Amino acid sequence: MAYNIPILPREKVFRDPVHDYIHVQHQLILDLINTAEFQRLRRVKQTGTTLFTFHGAEHSRFGHSLGVYEVARRICDKFVRNYPSLTPGDGLWDDGERPVVLCAALLHDIGHGPYSHAFEKIFQTNHEQITIDIILSPETEVNQVLSRVSPTFPNEVASVINKTYPNPQVVQLISSQIDADRMDYLLRDAYYTGANYGRFDISRILRVMRPHKDGIAFTISGMHAVEDYILSRYQMYMQVYFHPVSRGVEVILNKLLARAHECYRSPEYGLNHSASLLIPFFEDNWTLKDYLKLDDGVLTTYFLHWLDEPDQILSDLAGRFLNRKPFKSVALNFDRDVATIEHLTELLDNMGYDTRYYAAKNSSYDLPYDFYRPDQIKNRTQIELIQKNGEHIELSKASEVVATIAGKARGDERFYFPREVVKSDTLSDDLFADDQFEFQTIVTTLENTTSY
Ligand code: ZN
Repeated sequence: MAYNIPILPREKVFRDPVHDYIHVQHQLILDLINTAEFQRLRRVKQTGTTLFTFHGAEHSRFGHSLGVYEVARRICDKFVRNYPSLTPGDGLWDDGERPVVLCAALLHDIGHGPYSHAFEKIFQTNHEQITIDIILSPETEVNQVLSRVSPTFPNEVASVINKTYPNPQVVQLISSQIDADRMDYLLRDAYYTGANYGRFDISRILRVMRPHKDGIAFTISGMHAVEDYILSRYQMYMQVYFHPVSRGVEVILNKLLARAHECYRSPEYGLNHSASLLIPFFEDNWTLKDYLKLDDGVLTTYFLHWLDEPDQILSDLAGRFLNRKPFKSVALNFDRDVATIEHLTELLDNMGYDTRYYAAKNSSYDLPYDFYRPDQIKNRTQIELIQKNGEHIELSKASEVVATIAGKARGDERFYFPREVVKSDTLSDDLFADDQFEFQTIVTTLENTTSY
């Protein structure tokens, strides 16, 4: 539905290291930024344990969310200037969609909690569902602000995020293989980690992007900019997001939360430090209000308390996390995985480690690009280029560079364990060289195990 939302008398700006200025032109957007739920994102880091490898990666979900909003806003501006719809159904851009696009862009990650991946795994929360709940629950400030536009507006914003909104242009701007979310997080994470290969020419991509009746496409003259974006994404996953050391800290975080959960439930151990904000999660009886109290600082505070817990596993894991003592890892290749795991598990047992908490497999795979496959349950929208004659061609059919990586998941599976084991073992050192890693390619359409 098209809404006319009031424009601010003077636009407000946020200075941003990635997009220079983020321009806020509507009271609605300013009011959403000022809600308690959105401000909480300042206290949740964007890339979890990545900062244990790339120390610059201290940036928050707040900055990323503003960035996605800004990219979406710029796309709306270009579309309305160059491709305005003249008659309904002509496949061009209807600027009445702007409010729903901007709100969905701003709020798409609002349900992320502290260290999302580890927390979700242990407490079975789901940030995507919580995002929808925050938008729809009458208890939240976000819902109250959205409802002022119209009683159905929160539902429309939520439907963009869960991809059921009727206009595919709107859905693809927020969620597709080349959307405002990915464009922002790749540039932002590249900037804050210092990984230069994550950069790409966003101005050029936004110039060649255009609406059509089934979604968004790119003029063929922009193919190389799109190729560069796909390769940057690939590089960021391989070199930053899947770094074995960050995963080694994430494994500790998983085990630490699992042990705290175990201690809380066990009459034998108990928890001396009550961790009151986590109790609803330990008891699997939490509300949205409980969830919104959590942030990175809350967890870190409890980890500091747990250093003094009598339970040795809990205090040891808390120390390993806080003082950055990542587990070491070995890549599992098909020929050696069973033998390696058996050998290391035996060593760990002999050294007195409880392997429920001191050994773990972690696999991280990503599909850098895939084309549409009607037989897949979880389908992806392929990237299409518009040729000179007006016909569309799928990206990997036009680009040999993209064709070489299309449809192939890349990543690895590793076995993690305390580094003290290495010293006591006679295995050759190069088996444990986790700073020299090499990823495998798997021909599959497997979904990535990690999303940012
Ligand atoms: Zn995001």
